[in-house]
Amino acid sequence: MFILNQVIKTKKPHACGCNEWTIVRIGADYKIKCNNCERIILVDSTKLNKIVKKQSQ
Ligand SMILES: [Zn+2]
Repeated sequence: MFILNQVIKTKKPHACGCNEWTIVRIGADYKIKCNNCERIILVDSTKLNKIVKKQSQ
């Protein structure tokens, strides 16, 4: 489960080289913003779960 403004890390970095993103919209689809270049991309929850790096806590 993800919450608004949560910072996530993806397994593969963005084209700019950064792998940290902030969740900026939650709904049927999620919008995540690259913390480096601030590009926003749209992903569905299935894809988001697939690309996010699980926190080891
Ligand atoms: Zn980026």
